[in-house]
Amino acid sequence: MRKLIVGNWKMNGLRQSADALVRGILDGLPVGADVGVALCPPATLLASVADMVRESPVEVGGQDCHPEASGAHTGDIAAPMLADAGARYVIVGHSERRSDHGESDALVRAKAEAALASGLRPIVCIGETAEQRRAGEALAVIKHQLAGSLPAFAQADALVVAYEPVWAIGTGDTATPADVEEVHALIRTALRSAAGDAGSQVPILYGGSVKPANAGELLGTAEVDGALVGGASLKAEDFLGIITAAAALN
Ligand code: PEP
Repeated sequence: MRKLIVGNWKMNGLRQSADALVRGILDGLPVGADVGVALCPPATLLASVADMVRESPVEVGGQDCHPEASGAHTGDIAAPMLADAGARYVIVGHSERRSDHGESDALVRAKAEAALASGLRPIVCIGETAEQRRAGEALAVIKHQLAGSLPAFAQADALVVAYEPVWAIGTGDTATPADVEEVHALIRTALRSAAGDAGSQVPILYGGSVKPANAGELLGTAEVDGALVGGASLKAEDFLGIITAAAALN
């Protein structure tokens, strides 16, 4: 499967810095690399980033969406609005949304279904906390989150799953390739049993302190189809280093 590298800018970026970052990424993209690349800027920058990448292979995504298509929800953004601004993807269920906003698996599933209904590819995030891993509960937590968060499988070909151990996000710690392999294998099995052959085609991304120095090893691990990248997506050189590592594996 073609690797997919997604940059999650989180709550970072003003117009000037975003322009420079996108220009740097576009200028340095490895020529002919068969790697999918998507940028998820804050909503305020989505349309302008989409304009900048229009003639390139780079796509854009939102960082969250509301489960409803419109209505009285001050401050929220609906999936059709993201699509209208030029998005192709939307991250749902990121651990920062789950912890900052108390998002449940059921809400994450509703958001993923709203994304699919608007023609967006939801990137459904799951991952255990440090406490859960220490208690030996990581696999059970992942199974439970998958069962509760994944949308109905009518459109499995549009789905993306991201395994992001909470303790590895923004900390500099990464899961070992053996741990990543174990969790990704479990996710693949769950996808296959829910969606049959289509479950084999769902990209499973790893996220959690991915950087150029560890990208080759993580992306080369079985069933790792790409990366969801936070901090290292804010520097063109680092993000390009991860894309280059992915391209080298093809
Ligand atoms: C993320 O925000 O999804 C993430 C993985 O962040 P970082 O790469 O900074 O750990």
